[in-house]
Amino acid sequence: MKPDLILTDATIVSPGAAPIARGWLALSGEKIVDLGPMATLPAFDGRIESLAGRVLTPGFVNIHTHAILSLMRGIAIDMGFAPAYTRGVPHGHEIGPEESVALARLGALEALLAGSTAMVDSYVHGDLTLPAMCDLGMRVWACGRLHDVDFSRVHLSDWEHKDEIGRLRLGELEKLTRDFNGAYGGRARTIAIPHAPDTCSADLLRRAGEFARANGLKVSTHLSQSKLENAQIQKRDGCTPTQLLERVGLLNEDLIAAHCIHMTADDVKRFGAAGATVAHVPKGNATGGAVAHTPNLRAAGANIALGTDNLTQDMAEQMRWGLANARVHLGRVAEDWQPEDAFEMATSNGARALGVDAWLGRLAPGYAADIVAWDFRRAHLTPLLDPLGTLVHDANGRDVQHVWVAGRQVVRDGEALFAGTNAVRAAAQKAAEGLWARAAEDV
Ligand SMILES: [Zn+2]
Repeated sequence: MKPDLILTDATIVSPGAAPIARGWLALSGEKIVDLGPMATLPAFDGRIESLAGRVLTPGFVNIHTHAILSLMRGIAIDMGFAPAYTRGVPHGHEIGPEESVALARLGALEALLAGSTAMVDSYVHGDLTLPAMCDLGMRVWACGRLHDVDFSRVHLSDWEHKDEIGRLRLGELEKLTRDFNGAYGGRARTIAIPHAPDTCSADLLRRAGEFARANGLKVSTHLSQSKLENAQIQKRDGCTPTQLLERVGLLNEDLIAAHCIHMTADDVKRFGAAGATVAHVPKGNATGGAVAHTPNLRAAGANIALGTDNLTQDMAEQMRWGLANARVHLGRVAEDWQPEDAFEMATSNGARALGVDAWLGRLAPGYAADIVAWDFRRAHLTPLLDPLGTLVHDANGRDVQHVWVAGRQVVRDGEALFAGTNAVRAAAQKAAEGLWARAAEDV
């Protein structure tokens, strides 16, 4: 097969493979066709791009985010808990269609510029935000916010479940799946994301699982994010949130559960034995005063993948926090919590959670050409001796120079090619100012 493009002279780093200090990587169509050290570069009269001083990695797979919640930047993180449970902030049901698109585009733009090529996103107006994010060139697994609690009351500590809300939301996911699952050449996917055990009745959780199984979708949710959630489930269902998920048939390897902070030893055992995935958001947990017990969860058999949740979409930063989180838990620098572990959590483990690890999350022949070129010709990334250690400990999203998704370049020299950064920023600024002004009137 004749490549469309060969990237040369770059350092190549992929999970589970030895780094190539100075190598080449060939793309054809949507795939990587081959790669190797420069000494093995094949004769080729096509397009060659030299990337000396750059490090190539697979794009990050951000396993848990809410792009619209860039809205909360710099404020909600210091208010105590997740926005849905907090008074005095804009809430999902108050966000209009145009505002949701403006904010989702900001989140997706930011993610792409920082090296995420795939992300799992859920919030409101999924039918509008999914195409808006895919238009920027990335892969998105999306769902609207699936719940049957009256979300206009949760921040007032009032959990009222209404069957008609659940039916409406499930209907929206059915339509989203009909309209978009597999669209954009396969870049758009849907996933069933019941918001959390306390905002979904056991019956809705069960029906969401049935819908996911019938349609071959993965399932995600927040799980034991707070003591409040645990107490609510104990009161409502007489068990822990993990036990509830097991009871309704969701605790299996199709599950991607965000946070997993306040779990009992028995919960951890059940979760790990099921082979479920922790959507680990170490920075969000830590700034909220909590630590997920990832060493215990991984030892029990859980897959650990990284997400940004509602904070900045910088997965390089999350790798550092993920590593620090585990070491804080253990109280030492462990041999099995090293940069390659954090790198896998940000790439191949996310692909595994989504059931696409046979073709996504690595730089290898036959894998999707979802590639990030990091510019290591910078003071804080010099000397380049151990590319993976430096990437995990010292790089940040602003060091991304180029990004390809499915073989198509979507970021060049730090600029998105399918969205004007200034226009996206202006629309998001206007939407956020309006929403915060309305929230202030409500208090
Ligand atoms: Zn979340």
